[in-house]
Amino acid sequence: MEKIEKTDFKYIGNKLLGWYKTNARDLPFRQTKDPYKIWICEIVFQQTRISQGLNHYNNFIERFPDVKTLAEAEENEVLLYWKGLGYYSRAINVHKAAQQIINDYHGVFPSEYEEILKLKGVGKYTAAAVSSICFNGRIPAVDGNFYRVLSRVFANDFDISNSGAFNYFSELAHLILPDNAGDFNQAMMDLGSEICKPRNPLCGECPLNKDCIAFLTHKVSDFPVKTKKVKASGLELKYYFVHRNGKFLIQQRKDDFIWKKLFEFAPEISDELVPFIKSVKTVQHKLTHKNLSIEIYNVEVDSEEAWNNFVSDNDYIISDYESSHQKSFPKPLENYIENYHTAYRIL
Ligand code: SF4
Repeated sequence: MEKIEKTDFKYIGNKLLGWYKTNARDLPFRQTKDPYKIWICEIVFQQTRISQGLNHYNNFIERFPDVKTLAEAEENEVLLYWKGLGYYSRAINVHKAAQQIINDYHGVFPSEYEEILKLKGVGKYTAAAVSSICFNGRIPAVDGNFYRVLSRVFANDFDISNSGAFNYFSELAHLILPDNAGDFNQAMMDLGSEICKPRNPLCGECPLNKDCIAFLTHKVSDFPVKTKKVKASGLELKYYFVHRNGKFLIQQRKDDFIWKKLFEFAPEISDELVPFIKSVKTVQHKLTHKNLSIEIYNVEVDSEEAWNNFVSDNDYIISDYESSHQKSFPKPLENYIENYHTAYRIL
C-alpha cells in the first residue's frame, strides 16, 4: 500500500468549511442534530438520491418521529413506509436497531462511534456521520464522494476498487479534517454531488481548485483510478441487469475463468446508475468444479440521460428479449431473463 505522508493539509478542509457556510444545500435534516433523524436520513439516502427520497424521508419521520415510536411499530408497517425506497433489509434493520436502542441503551441514542456501530445495519460511514454531526466526533464519513474528491485533490492513484480503499482514504481524509467534522462531512457530501461530480466536475466553481493537483495538472479525468475487472472473488459473482424500455445491456465474456464466450450482464455500473437499482436476487449455481453464488441487481434506468451516458461510456451490446434468444447465456442468467420477462412483461 502506498504510504501517506503526514503533512498538514487542514487548510483544505477549512476552505471547504468556508464554502459550505454559504453553499450548503437547504435540506430538512440539516436543521436538526437529533441523532435519530440523522441516522434515518443517512440510511434512507444511502442508495437513494436526495430528490427521490425526500418525500419518503419526511413521511417516515412524520409517522415514526422518534426511536420509541419506531421500536413499537409493527414490522409490516415499517416496510410499508419504506415502499419505493427499495433495499427493504434497511427498513428491517432500522426497526431492529430502534428496539436495540430501547433494550440496550434505555431508549437513548448512543453517542460514541463504537456504540453506534453496534446498531443493526449501521456501518462505518453511517456511524461516522451520526457521531460527527450529532456528537462532535472527529471522524470522516468516508464514502464514494471522499474517494473521488481526495483522489483528485491529491492526484492519488490508489485504486478505489481495492479492498483497502476505505482505510486508505480514511487516513487521507484525516489529513484535511478540520475540527468541525460534522460540517466537513456534509460539505464533502455537497461538494461531491454538486461540484466534484463523477462526470464533468465543475472545477471552475470549486473552492478547492487552487489546491487540486489533478485540476492544476489537467488530469482530472484520470482520477479516481478504478480497475475494470470482473468482480469475481472466489466463488462469488455480481451482475447488474441494466435495462430501460425493454432493452438491456450484455457483453461477451472474454476471460478463461468460467463461461468463456457466453454472454453476461454488466459486471459493474457507474455511480450515476446506482440510484436506479431496484432489487437484488441471489442465485446459487453449481458447476462441476465450482459452487457459485451470483448476485444479480435489477437496475431499471428511469433516466434517458443516465442510460445514454452509460451506453456511450461502455462497450455493452444493447439487447432485448427476442434477440437474446440468438445468444448463449449461462443458465442462471438465461433463467433471470426468462423470469423477468414472465413476471413483468416489459422486455
Ligand atoms: S478542482 Fe475539480 S477535480 Fe478538483 S476537487 Fe474541485 S471539482 Fe474536483
